[in-house]
Amino acid sequence: MSARTPEIGELGAEAEELLAGLIRFNTVNPPGNERPAQQYLADHLARAGFECELLGAEEGRPNLIARLRAEDGRDGPTLCYLGHVDTVLADPADWTHDPWSGDVVDGFLWGRGSLDMKSQVAAEIAAAASLARSGWRPARGELLIVAVVDEETGGSLGAQWITETHPEKVRCDLLVNEGGGAVFEYGGRRCYGVCCAEKGVFRFTVTTDGVAGHASMPSMGENALLKMGPVLERLAARQPSHLPTEEPLAFLRGIGEDPEDLDGSLERLRDADPRLATMFEPMFGVTFTPTRIRASEKINVIPNRAELKVDCRVPPGLGEEEVRRGIAEVLGPESTDTHPPWRIDFTERVVGNRSPVRSELMDTISAWIAEQDPGAEVVPVVLPGFTDSRHFRLAFPECVAYGFFPHRHQTLLQTAPLIHGADERIDVRDLAFATELFRDLAVRVLG
Ligand SMILES: [Zn+2]
Repeated sequence: MSARTPEIGELGAEAEELLAGLIRFNTVNPPGNERPAQQYLADHLARAGFECELLGAEEGRPNLIARLRAEDGRDGPTLCYLGHVDTVLADPADWTHDPWSGDVVDGFLWGRGSLDMKSQVAAEIAAAASLARSGWRPARGELLIVAVVDEETGGSLGAQWITETHPEKVRCDLLVNEGGGAVFEYGGRRCYGVCCAEKGVFRFTVTTDGVAGHASMPSMGENALLKMGPVLERLAARQPSHLPTEEPLAFLRGIGEDPEDLDGSLERLRDADPRLATMFEPMFGVTFTPTRIRASEKINVIPNRAELKVDCRVPPGLGEEEVRRGIAEVLGPESTDTHPPWRIDFTERVVGNRSPVRSELMDTISAWIAEQDPGAEVVPVVLPGFTDSRHFRLAFPECVAYGFFPHRHQTLLQTAPLIHGADERIDVRDLAFATELFRDLAVRVLG
């Protein structure tokens, strides 16, 4: 067992203990089996005075909904802290410390979920419980805590289920979820990304056709797989041209670059730190990543068809038209007499989701960071993937949802490779830092 970290204070210590306990419940999804973890969190909140409910589509996988209302029922916003308690898998053989130990070693709390995202859940709940125990109640509106299951496999039992089947229970005006917050340095500035938007997914298949034949005679038939060669070469050579939307332009302003000079800005970003460029450049347009290919089912048969699967991500505000333009740009036009014949079929079309870059919630977060880390600032970011925020933005179009969990010691470059990786761990000072944010945010928004 771990020794408490002295400099993190009582609130940080509560989050640390709650997180260690939460990590010890194995909630690898599948199968998830989140009920015992959810019960553990519900008990913590109920003891503090929250109304708690466990509600799920499956007995073993309930979602936790907990609320703290204004004492006299005064109208005001519902501020929701959202998190998921399931995790991806972990192979203990790859880890320095057991992924379900929750041990604190050298100032880090280790374990699967310590970044994604049991840490944020523990910080949110420790902050909320500590406020409620102290006698604090919202002066207006309510504080809502939602801990869902099943995020890592898409949310059909979690955020999607709860927003579709019980929207009245999780309706909110302001939402804080995962997706941003680890500090990064650029051009002498310290920046905390607030995730305002998430890209959509427009996956497609590129198909080439040929004529089957016996593989012992290479010139027999017409090999569909070989026709994929030029397709792969073109995908390797470039991405579609940038199509910057509002958020990435605001990001450039935030890091001190010039949105009018997009190419120059991105070049400077790449020169300054290629790892940051790898993470941020996808914000600026449609991206194509080929991930799977299949052709002949038999080793001795020349394939009459080959299929290449391309994972394509699209900023919110853009859609199929921009994807098709990107395909034409990268691959050339579909089947003409002069080009190798290939065709495109979309297999998934989910548009991106977003909240306004400017809002009172953003101002409140920004002011908090300026106080706590003088000289640092918040910048809007777009997540190249997606989170449960999309289900809430879809269910409650007026809801302002941000991904934010501030880390000031463990930087973005340090946390990014640990998420879904081996040796996932959080600096306990950051856990305490974020817990203070969630406490102060509730008080500032709800009075
Ligand atoms: Zn997550």
